[in-house]
Amino acid sequence: MEKYDIAVIGAGPAGYNCAINFAKQGKKVVIIEKDNLGGTCLNRGCIPTKFLWQAASVKQTISKSYEYGLKSVLEPVNFQEIINKKNRLVENLVKGVSRLLAANKVDVIKGTASFKNKNELNIKTETEEISIFADKIIIATGSESKSIPNVEYDHKKYIDSTDVLNLTEVPKTMLVIGAGAIGIELSSIFASFGCKVTLREICPQILPSEDSDLAQELSKVLARQGIKVEAGCTDTLKDKDSFEKILIVAGRKSNADELKPENIGLSLDKRKFVSTQNYATNVDNIFAIGDIIAKGFLAYTAEQDAINVAENLQSKNPVPKVVFSFPPVASVKAVDYDSYKDVAFGKSTFISNARAQIEGQRTGWIKVAIDNVSKKVIGVWIIGVNADELIESATMIIKSDMKVTDLSKDMFFHPGLSELIFEATRNC
Ligand SMILES: Cc1cc2nc3c(=O)[nH]c(=O)nc-3n(C[C@H](O)[C@H](O)[C@H](O)COP(=O)(O)OP(=O)(O)OC[C@H]3O[C@@H](n4cnc5c(N)ncnc54)[C@H](O)[C@@H]3O)c2cc1C
Repeated sequence: MEKYDIAVIGAGPAGYNCAINFAKQGKKVVIIEKDNLGGTCLNRGCIPTKFLWQAASVKQTISKSYEYGLKSVLEPVNFQEIINKKNRLVENLVKGVSRLLAANKVDVIKGTASFKNKNELNIKTETEEISIFADKIIIATGSESKSIPNVEYDHKKYIDSTDVLNLTEVPKTMLVIGAGAIGIELSSIFASFGCKVTLREICPQILPSEDSDLAQELSKVLARQGIKVEAGCTDTLKDKDSFEKILIVAGRKSNADELKPENIGLSLDKRKFVSTQNYATNVDNIFAIGDIIAKGFLAYTAEQDAINVAENLQSKNPVPKVVFSFPPVASVKAVDYDSYKDVAFGKSTFISNARAQIEGQRTGWIKVAIDNVSKKVIGVWIIGVNADELIESATMIIKSDMKVTDLSKDMFFHPGLSELIFEATRNC
């Protein structure tokens, strides 16, 4: 039986980054993946959605070219061609992950892993069953689409986020159930391509865990784009027959069962995600990272877990959040945000910013929260063009404990969108 220092189960952003980090320390590492390298993020998550979002953005830009004195004619959209291009990009990026693992001398086994005991894994490949031994095992098996009670995906009418990213035609009508980040992104993308979208959320607001001001503004923006938004909807399937497709994006579920956790007495939580304390499970030398520990459900938190577990670090940094709507929304809060009692808020608007005017993107605002006592910036919320990039500066400002007075000493490029962050702090 082949022996390794480290075995990693799952080659998504958590798994492959973890494997590479351990390999760089000179460890003998194997990674086991049952599907394509790159996991959900690369094959059916972050990358495909952002490619489709970009395609929709280009379409919008072309149709607004007259604003710059340019005439253009947009041919009817061939959605199959867009999906083909998306697939080509994904294939290339998967090859990139494969090259990266090879360059770091990580062994890759294609197959489904399960525990035999705490040091041995059984791996079912297409042709055989093999066993490997490892001193340390890292579980990075990710998560799967979760439906709503009493509804099964049939992958034809009732579809999940993977199915929708492989449709070859834009449906005429689509009901999207679940107005979290994924539901909003997919609603925005498909509405841009001409689909009549109804977006339903059972919670009282869309983006249920986000600032209500931001969620309300986004609701208005989505409605202006023709998306019918219904929050606080108790019967999400009330008129199910009137939709060509029903996309259910109501959260993620665990896939830990396949690992045969009972063979090693691995503790799972109520929802069957792996219970951990600083990535350590209840079983010696077995760790878990990424979606399977249900802490972030984001590729970059998964990647941070990978670094932390390989380098024995603990990091508690503010986590920026982004939703790719049109325009995008983003937010970041200090880790101890809720402990501040005397907070002031200030806003700046994109319509007042020269760069936003030049880009023809006048929608939205930036809201900043500062602690009145220390004058530190403790929260930033953005709805507007390039929110996804602007939030990085905001994260650095919060992480570095910068005060409003520190920002006054900085210079912001003009004409730039980042001027809006400074302006919002001055309005606090
Ligand atoms: C539609 C969509 C859009 C998203 N957009 C973003 C975004 O823009 N930004 C962002 O940060 N996050 C986004 N996410 C979330 C992000 O994709 C996940 O948080 C991230 O992929 C989690 O990484 P992971 O490595 O933990 O798991 P995964 O990426 O899910 O990888 C786990 C891997 O383990 C494999 N595996 C599972 N069980 C076994 C087994 N028993 N044996 C062998 N292999 C196994 C799976 O095949 C999979 O490849 C999106 C998700 C979705 C669904």
